Amino acid sequence: MINRFILNDVKSNMNVKNCNRCSGETKGKTILSIFNEQVICLECKETEKKHPKYDSAVQAEYEQVKKGNYNFEGIGLPDDYDNFMKSIKQKI
Ligand SMILES: [Zn+2]
Repeated sequence: MINRFILNDVKSNMNVKNCNRCSGETKGKTILSIFNEQVICLECKETEKKHPKYDSAVQAEYEQVKKGNYNFEGIGLPDDYDNFMKSIKQKI
């Protein structure tokens, strides 16, 4: 399916030590953000999935892939994302 959803612990360019978003240790498990090209940890991925714009970001990616664009850079990180991330972390 869409390559963005595959766990990228094999590809060397995805093998970052620290999450591009939260700077936490990835422990070798990373995935590409749906919103932009950041390589993020699985925790950040779970947070991302709770964002109201997640579905439209997935949809946008899907449309691009259908058109043959496998390098879609994403719709961009929503403006409220920082606050959103904080509010999610407080609930945990
Ligand atoms: Zn993270």
